[in-house]
Amino acid sequence: TDLSHDLIAPLGPGGAEDASRFGRKAVTLSRLVSMGVPVKPGFAVSAEAVTRLAENGGEALGPGFAAALAGLSPGALLALRASPGAKEWGGPATLLNLGASVEALEPRIGALAARDATRRLIHAYAVHVGGADPEAFEYALHDTLKDHGAETEGDLDAEALDELIETFLELHEDETGDPFPHAAADQLAGAMRAMARMWGSVSARLLRTSRGGPEAGGLALIVQEMAMGLAPGLSGAGRVAFRSEQSGEPGLRGRMLYQAQGNDASAGLRTPRLIGATERRAAGVRDPSLEEAAPEIADRLRALGAMAEREFAEAMALEFTLEGGELAVLGAEPIRRSPRAAVRIAVDLAKSGAIQMEDAVLRVEPRLLSELLHPTIDPYAPRDLLAGGLPASPGAASGPIVFAAEAADASAARGVPAILVRVETSPEDIRGMHSAAGVLTVRGGMTSHAAVVARGLGTPCVVGASGLSLDLQSRELTAPDGRVFREGDLITVDGSAGEALAGAAPTVQPEFSGALAELMDWADGMRRMKVRANADTAQDARVALGFAADGIGLARTEHMFFEKGRITAMRRMILAEKESDRRAALEQLLPMQRADFMALYRVMQGSPVTIRLLDPPLHEFLPHADDELGELAEATGLTMRALRRRIDDMQEFNPMLGKRGCRLGVTIPEIYEMQVRAIFEALAQSWADGPLVVPEIMIPLVSARREATMIRRTIDGVAMAVAAETGRDFAYKVGVMVETPRAALRAGDLAEDLDFLSFGTNDLTQMTYGLSRDDAGRFMRDYVNLEVFAEDPFHSLDLEGVGELMVIATDRARDRKPGIPLGLCGEHGGDPASIRFCEAAGFDYVSCSPFRVPIARLACAQATI
Ligand code: PEP
Ligand code: MG
Repeated sequence: TDLSHDLIAPLGPGGAEDASRFGRKAVTLSRLVSMGVPVKPGFAVSAEAVTRLAENGGEALGPGFAAALAGLSPGALLALRASPGAKEWGGPATLLNLGASVEALEPRIGALAARDATRRLIHAYAVHVGGADPEAFEYALHDTLKDHGAETEGDLDAEALDELIETFLELHEDETGDPFPHAAADQLAGAMRAMARMWGSVSARLLRTSRGGPEAGGLALIVQEMAMGLAPGLSGAGRVAFRSEQSGEPGLRGRMLYQAQGNDASAGLRTPRLIGATERRAAGVRDPSLEEAAPEIADRLRALGAMAEREFAEAMALEFTLEGGELAVLGAEPIRRSPRAAVRIAVDLAKSGAIQMEDAVLRVEPRLLSELLHPTIDPYAPRDLLAGGLPASPGAASGPIVFAAEAADASAARGVPAILVRVETSPEDIRGMHSAAGVLTVRGGMTSHAAVVARGLGTPCVVGASGLSLDLQSRELTAPDGRVFREGDLITVDGSAGEALAGAAPTVQPEFSGALAELMDWADGMRRMKVRANADTAQDARVALGFAADGIGLARTEHMFFEKGRITAMRRMILAEKESDRRAALEQLLPMQRADFMALYRVMQGSPVTIRLLDPPLHEFLPHADDELGELAEATGLTMRALRRRIDDMQEFNPMLGKRGCRLGVTIPEIYEMQVRAIFEALAQSWADGPLVVPEIMIPLVSARREATMIRRTIDGVAMAVAAETGRDFAYKVGVMVETPRAALRAGDLAEDLDFLSFGTNDLTQMTYGLSRDDAGRFMRDYVNLEVFAEDPFHSLDLEGVGELMVIATDRARDRKPGIPLGLCGEHGGDPASIRFCEAAGFDYVSCSPFRVPIARLACAQATI
């Protein structure tokens, strides 16, 4: 059969507009033509037609092709381009100058350019169509240059170029066995067959399937008249963008080469000219930019750029050729962009009306925001990888290695924030983590102590870098490649990539731009769920409010007890054998805890504050080092032996499954009594401080209904007592964390007795999988690499398992108490996929570390669109 019109179509409206047949590039060119952009005439040959051509030889081209060809300007040089379905699939290189000959071109573009074009054609044709050895041509060129004492082709005169053309013609015949075809139609037919063959070759198939392309299916081609960038005067080729890839700011960017064609400007033959004046000045380049040398062309480009941005609803770059000041556009594609530029572009496009506000909000990947909120490693800097781990807390930081929390403090006090390197961290390390620039641990998963605390602090952190070996005796850190690092050696933590690097890698500082603020405003107007922060201190709370959190969804009170001056009272409380001793120690802690809550309330000014009662196993608060033991023996009046025995007595085989959470509250009620009293007394004392907080008191690790009701009774009792003592009538709520599978299954009962439920998905994940959150780092990388798990379930909620439990819990809770507030406060609260789940489940809020609040706000908005 002949090629009918749907196998061959002109570039332009009603022509090559179907990407599945004519490829991306042809469709883009057609759109450009429709928009009135100057594009040279041409037509596209469909993938199917090209396949037939490869199978049946030249005959397959038929009369449709001949007619299309005859429709082009007689004598015009032709370009043949590949038009694959996607740019990433690759494809044969463009062939330019088809039909070039010295006689035909000399009157149009002059003696030298005519010869240059002809020489280029023979060379490219021999190599790309005939399969000739490119080196043979390089040598021939080199010899000619040497014979004429010339440095580049541009220095050769007409006579030398004629010699070169003769040599090339001979080489063509020697290398390919065929004389060079002089007729344009023959050249075109040969080139099309060669491209079709190349597309079907094994290596091309492998390449494109590895990039997500199809194995089978043909390659569409474009035959197009050429603008002659090689012509004298204001002629050349280049690529121009209309915004910065770094900032998204409008302005001409790009480079062009005079007397050049195709991708000469990026091939590094000569130094290209910059196109924009601002970019030229910023680069400190002397040669005038195109904008300065030919302002009318720059104006023209700017107008085309604005049109392209509107029509494609996207920041675009244009490839173009100039021939004697006349512009021809060869293609258009979206520009690459940094996260910052992505935000600016989305906002600008919405403001110009090119896209809807919802589209703008959808176009920015929430994860990218973390790069805008933290320093990142300069993407152009070399990376000296030390070891890989899990990306526990984003951002990059460099500093000298320290192996102990105290050393991190000391280093920061000297003005040199350090990188704290530990096997893993424990609550005792909190202070050191506060002063460290970054944290690196050999063990641990995404919800291990180091990861959770570092995210809360906004400190870059890599955990589970299990290739490293840390010898605390010799104070040496050994990398997998055998390199040894000691205290004081510089390293860099890249918490976004999950990598530790040797040395101090250069970083780029973050910037919360006006465009980002605007985008976040739009997102806030669209989202339904509230975004709260996991914040333990007034300082955290201020950071959270700075990121516009809607309240605190989780204040972990245990972190308040590690501060200097408190830990001793805490230890006395823990070690007390008699209730009276314990009460005495708690008396000491009460005012401190009260002050903590007052500070929180003052910052939060009436916004919701969820306070979780003490959760970790008590022995986490006890000392390990000998000198600390001595101090403690003195403070408690115990002998060293008795003290050691007490501490030993408290050890558990599985502390995370032991006496922790509400189990402490049930068996040692005085602790929660003290905490709750502090919560209410702080309220009474804050009466005059502005809008009053309604504290939401949260009971951790509940698994049985009785646990919750017993503790609720204690809380209500203390509330009544404090109200009577102070004469203040305050409001409060009591809820539970749903973080054991049993609590999820019995959520109906819990809902009946309580005011709200908050899913603690860290523990819920740990217990549903039976997988320790502190040890998961040892194999999580392998598990994800082997695709045992699609994703680290401590990072992105496991929708199938943990998610099903949550759905069951949600249904049962609402069945018994419709409208009961539901939230999520595990680390998943900052993960966009998990947030989508919470939106679908109709949760009231998610809560995440302060630095992820903007990410969550954006993700919440996206989940509603
Ligand atoms: C949880 O388990 O999800 C939670 C928020 O509590 P924590 O991380 O303190 O155990
Ligand atoms: Mg928990």
